[in-house]
Amino acid sequence: MQISNRLKNINGGGSDGWDLFYKARRMVADGVDIIQLNIGEHDIKTDTTILEAMHKAAVDGHTGYPAVPGIPELRETVARRVTKQSGVKTTADNVLITPGGQAGLYAAHTLTVAEGDVGLFCDPYYATYPSTIRGAGGVAVAVRTKSEEDFQPQRAALDRVAKRAKSLLINSPNNPSGVIYSQKTIDTICDFCKDEDLWLISDEVYDTQVWEGEHISPRSVEGMAERTLVIGSMSKSHAMTGSRVGWIVGPEEAIESLIDLATNTTYGVPGYIQDAALFALRAGPALEAKVAEPFRRRREMALNLIDKQNLVKAIPCSGAMYLMLDIRATGLSGEEFGDRLLEEHRIAVMPGESFGQAASGHLRVAMTTDDESFEKALSTLLDFANEVAA
Ligand code: PLP
Repeated sequence: MQISNRLKNINGGGSDGWDLFYKARRMVADGVDIIQLNIGEHDIKTDTTILEAMHKAAVDGHTGYPAVPGIPELRETVARRVTKQSGVKTTADNVLITPGGQAGLYAAHTLTVAEGDVGLFCDPYYATYPSTIRGAGGVAVAVRTKSEEDFQPQRAALDRVAKRAKSLLINSPNNPSGVIYSQKTIDTICDFCKDEDLWLISDEVYDTQVWEGEHISPRSVEGMAERTLVIGSMSKSHAMTGSRVGWIVGPEEAIESLIDLATNTTYGVPGYIQDAALFALRAGPALEAKVAEPFRRRREMALNLIDKQNLVKAIPCSGAMYLMLDIRATGLSGEEFGDRLLEEHRIAVMPGESFGQAASGHLRVAMTTDDESFEKALSTLLDFANEVAA
């Protein structure tokens, strides 16, 4: 039987650069004791108070077909939160509740790119970005960024790929680099979108993990609210990765079309999950700070260790749960370094090559293991780098 070309080609062909990740996973399954710094997921579970709210909602009967756009209270709460964070007046009509950020990314591209249109994304990138654009029918084209410029997109690189583009996808705070886009970068991106008449899809799922500086939502820039779709999620902010709940914030007309799409795809998010999300958001910033705290602490630990040597350089890690380390001075590629670190020291990291070409010769270190193992693993990694470079 035929499988559509769109799905056959969704992964773009060739290696996906994740061989080392699968190797580490096989070793763990075989019982090998590995310190895993390769997983983009908290080492804590969803707070029990949230689970209790979820349980109560389900037992109380919120188990039927859900409100497809989201329950009004949750849409309103998200709207208030976004208004407070960004200063842009946002109402429930600007919000669609989605089954996580990933569903939001797919829906946003389905809305903005027609078959054969170009959807831009920045390299290095979160693994699903190009395939999400292709899955929505678009042609995925990367905007190259440079380690030397802290992976902040520049106008010349944007201009080089503007032809036939209909959307630009950005992510700040960024996975994999941990970088937060500066005001200058945000202004450059917004000017580019206005000049080229593009939609801006702003993935802000790490907006509660800010260690230094400020997270600026481009939707708050003059003239951008009408062309920006913000992707939000409870996965990272509340350690609710398995609950699959997030949102898209955008112009009312776009949200109306996205509700039509949701009616014909996801059919909404389960009511008891929405109730739990509502409870979690109403719990306020203290709960978010509690979820973010371990990463803030481990980042400090990491920067102290990195400061003690000169070979491995850290890209300024201002947010998110990752460190991006430049290991080019060792003479090894990210893949070679990662493979040897796994084989010789039983430490799993992600090679920068897993996230595109711009971060080759780098490693993404997820700060998602307990403090003691994290410190030990990072210190071993730095010693290993110095040893192989010698
Ligand atoms: N965007 C980025 C940058 C991510 O790192 C992730 C998950 O790791 C997602 C989106 C998807 O998150 P979720 O679908 O769990 O909300």
